[in-house]
Amino acid sequence: MPHLSPRNTRLQRKTTAEGAAVEDENHVPIFEVLVASIDRDPATAVKRVHNGILRAIPLAGTETRKSYQTKLLAFIQSGDVEMHKLAAIDWLSDARLVVETWAGFLEPGRDPSGVRCEFRTLVAVKDRSWERIFSGLAAGAEQLILQLPWNAGRKSPFELDTFVLPDLSALNPKYGYKNLTFTNRAKANSAVADQDYIVDKDVASYEKHFDMSFFFQLALHEMLGHGCGELCRETAPGQFNFDPADMPVNPLTNEPVNSWYSLSHPPEAAFVGIATGYVECLAEGIGLYIMSSEGAQKILAPHTELDMDEVIYNAYLSIARVGLRALRSYDSRSQVPSGTAKVEVHLDNSGVGSQPRRSLKVTLDRSKIKTVGHQALGDLIFKLQICRSIKDVARGTAIFMDLTTVSDKELLWKE
Ligand SMILES: [Zn+2]
Repeated sequence: MPHLSPRNTRLQRKTTAEGAAVEDENHVPIFEVLVASIDRDPATAVKRVHNGILRAIPLAGTETRKSYQTKLLAFIQSGDVEMHKLAAIDWLSDARLVVETWAGFLEPGRDPSGVRCEFRTLVAVKDRSWERIFSGLAAGAEQLILQLPWNAGRKSPFELDTFVLPDLSALNPKYGYKNLTFTNRAKANSAVADQDYIVDKDVASYEKHFDMSFFFQLALHEMLGHGCGELCRETAPGQFNFDPADMPVNPLTNEPVNSWYSLSHPPEAAFVGIATGYVECLAEGIGLYIMSSEGAQKILAPHTELDMDEVIYNAYLSIARVGLRALRSYDSRSQVPSGTAKVEVHLDNSGVGSQPRRSLKVTLDRSKIKTVGHQALGDLIFKLQICRSIKDVARGTAIFMDLTTVSDKELLWKE
């Protein structure tokens, strides 16, 4: 079968018209490989995407956009992922759009094995005011990064010499980057619709501060969370971004660093199976940690009248809530880490009679955010970053699995 790639294929169990599984003579279920192309799969949504692009090409306006859409069309027709990569390079080079469109692969983190992506199409109109905010954050990033625990005021060997804007594509950074945030989607995620697990006394504050804390977390996660931290690595045969004759000291062991990424074992090959979750966990932690920085607050919300301590409190609360939501979709058979953060959770037997209404609520102690919470978060991102920097896969994996492995107690919460 031509053009097989994890990106554009799906396994589907073969079934009869009545929905019963089809098995071979040894009673092994038969799976079929589906490829997302109109050659292979002409009757589905792929065909509608194809027809839409076909109509858009004459209206493209510029040669770059025409080239993007033509290559995208070729991908949709054949399923050839290389053609999609070429289309993405055109898309990345077209930086100054007011109306942005995209059709492609996103979010490998949703795949338990971290490889397959969702194919999504979108049309968006650019909000210039957000661009200014993100530019301000990029300009202030060097100062904010110094506050991270592995730097502590002075850049360590585990930090980039110069801050580079994060590259969110899977492509080589030489083609550039685009960082898209959908404000209407964020609004649709609003606090009102998302109050499960929040205790009654917190609801009013959660509603009031949710939008601001979401905005902070999103901006800091994307810009700093994915934009800082250096990996110890071989940059060309026999050349390194550290001095092999004077190795940096591993702050977790106080021994010289003794592992790094070589050309034959690049970062993409390490932390197999948890790589995406690991990096997202670190980025989320960095965002939450830097949220406490006055510098970040001055850049992101210079005129806010909201109490920033409450904004931060609700960001912690929100992460705990998201962890519990992740538990809902946890599949105990696959043992895939749930992304569940370990939080203090109370099972509330507040019902009456023989059928108690059991509901799960998160309680956080406000007074401990600045003291215990911030410190604990700093320790966590410190360890995650160092292990990632020096390719300490064993230690990093142990920390990550401890954070995300679902215990029997948590499985009961799921029930
Ligand atoms: Zn991220």
